[in-house]
Amino acid sequence: MTDRILDFLRHRRDEGPCMVLDLDVVRENYARFAQALPDTRVYYAVKANPDARVLDLLARLGSSFDTASVVEIEQVLAVGVGADRISYGNTIKKERDIARAFALGVRLFAVDSEAEVEKIARAAPGSRVFCRILSDGSGAEWPLSRKFGCAPAMAAGILELAHRLGLVAHGLSFHVGSQQRNPRMWDGALKDCGAIFRDLAERGITLNMVNLGGGFPTRYLKDVPAVKAYGQAIFRALRRHFGNRIPETIIEPGRGMVGNAGMIEAEVVLISRKSAEDKVKWVYLDIGKFNGLAETMDEMIRYPIRTAFDDDALEPCVLAGPSCDSVDVLYEKDPYMLPVSLEIGAKVLIEGCGAYTTTYSTVGFNGFPPLKSYVI
Ligand SMILES: *Cc1c(COP(=O)(O)O)cnc(C)c1O
Repeated sequence: MTDRILDFLRHRRDEGPCMVLDLDVVRENYARFAQALPDTRVYYAVKANPDARVLDLLARLGSSFDTASVVEIEQVLAVGVGADRISYGNTIKKERDIARAFALGVRLFAVDSEAEVEKIARAAPGSRVFCRILSDGSGAEWPLSRKFGCAPAMAAGILELAHRLGLVAHGLSFHVGSQQRNPRMWDGALKDCGAIFRDLAERGITLNMVNLGGGFPTRYLKDVPAVKAYGQAIFRALRRHFGNRIPETIIEPGRGMVGNAGMIEAEVVLISRKSAEDKVKWVYLDIGKFNGLAETMDEMIRYPIRTAFDDDALEPCVLAGPSCDSVDVLYEKDPYMLPVSLEIGAKVLIEGCGAYTTTYSTVGFNGFPPLKSYVI
């Protein structure tokens, strides 16, 4: 949390939960990535927070952008970024969306299947493609599982097809899982990449690029390694698997770029017990899974929560949202320690909310409006 955010909240006039994001923190994060991985281009993962002021700042700092849809491409173009700084990184695209992206000037596309290569060859002829390989996501608090990427053994065939169809077989990508707390997790995927580079070289195709994906963490309740440690581990892995021929690399940080820049202010609506013997109190906030805190799903992301009573004794509480859906419980399996003196009407500050909150809010379930967002 920053003084600028606290100051903004003190002078705020409207009410209801809101997310406030401090652009100074994004600026520092960008500088840290640039310093930790000096030879790597940054493609900010727009989905983490697509606010125009965030995109505009990152554009001015020199960032490129990883997008997942035509709307995200348009959001990036709208802040004056050239299409040559945009990657269409979703491996699941309608052919007419590929054609629209191509018409907008985008020439870099992700694939993980032959069918997607065929669509791109038809709708975006001559473009560069990179093939995403599976990564098991272990060590990540928000694993991306098996939805994206193909088995490493399939990648060479997919890129060879791209080459045959007149596309540029540009490189490989992977994502080690979001909120990846282990910097060494890049090593296994880079080993696979090295092998695929050599396999394709034998078939006469030279790959140039490895997209190292996102996964860089935000500090929530648990400590996380510094970006510098990730840079060092990645560089060592590149050396190990590519020797002196280190390819062009890019990273796609989302959470690590904006997560710690944002804070949510919410309010305690009700504190109650379910029975006289109940050991845990229930604390209901005016924000829950449906208006910004979707990443508490399965209690995966545990946000730090501050209150004005933090010096007092703590007790375990079930924390829940305001909506009339019983899945709208944030922490119950592992109750959250909150001050015994916490009161109805008190404000709580939830840290690390700059990524995956505002756009993960429903349009108005139960009449609760989408999460308000202020970028300062
Ligand atoms: C979501 C996503 C990212 C960003 O991931 P973080 O863990 O938030 O850094 C990067 N690349 C791709 C392809 C993604 O889908």
